[in-house]
Amino acid sequence: MFKEIWNALLNLVFPDLCEVCRTPLVKSEKCICLSCLYAMPKTKYWNEPDNELEKLFWGKVHVERACALFFYRIGSSYRPLIHKFKYQGNYSLAIRLGEDLGSYLNGLDSYRGIDMLVPVPLHPRKERKRGYNQSEQIAKGISNVMQIPVETRSLIRMVYTETQTKKNKLERRENVKEVFKVKDVKLFEDKHVMLIDDVITTGATIEACALALQENCRCKVSIASLGFVYN
Ligand SMILES: [Zn+2]
Repeated sequence: MFKEIWNALLNLVFPDLCEVCRTPLVKSEKCICLSCLYAMPKTKYWNEPDNELEKLFWGKVHVERACALFFYRIGSSYRPLIHKFKYQGNYSLAIRLGEDLGSYLNGLDSYRGIDMLVPVPLHPRKERKRGYNQSEQIAKGISNVMQIPVETRSLIRMVYTETQTKKNKLERRENVKEVFKVKDVKLFEDKHVMLIDDVITTGATIEACALALQENCRCKVSIASLGFVYN
């Protein structure tokens, strides 16, 4: 009881602010206010077969469906969201956005029958440094809504790659080959796996994950990400 009153008082003095527009949140809002959620530049790709994100993988790897929650554009007030949960420790924001994405996918025919969510793995050293895998937090959010288990132990990252921002596209593509390894092949056999990422730019990383899975097991792969850089 005392704790509740204390928290209410604390919230009066230091209210939680919307991560996009910094206005104080009301009780039912979590991380992002309703009007910013409404105005989010959503891709709506979950309703659009053969969308621009799926086209990234054409001729490279077979993907059932691919979607992202929002367009990740330079100058957009939604762009810092990713930075906040990736580098500033705000992983509850990743869970919250994952729940949003999950609520759009939940119940859609093309996203039915998914057996497990597999976040793009970080190298263990990087995960220790960051304290968590942001894609795993997104997967947790999707899982909260869709009730699909999250699998984190059987697709692993073998190589510690440096930050890729300074490399060109071709180098990046070379860089991710042979990076991922499937540890437990049986686990994915005859399953429909949805790979989860934070932001997709060239798609090279998640393509390498999908290839690692499909070269080793007979499984279907779909892809879901929070941000999509579409130029
Ligand atoms: Zn807002």
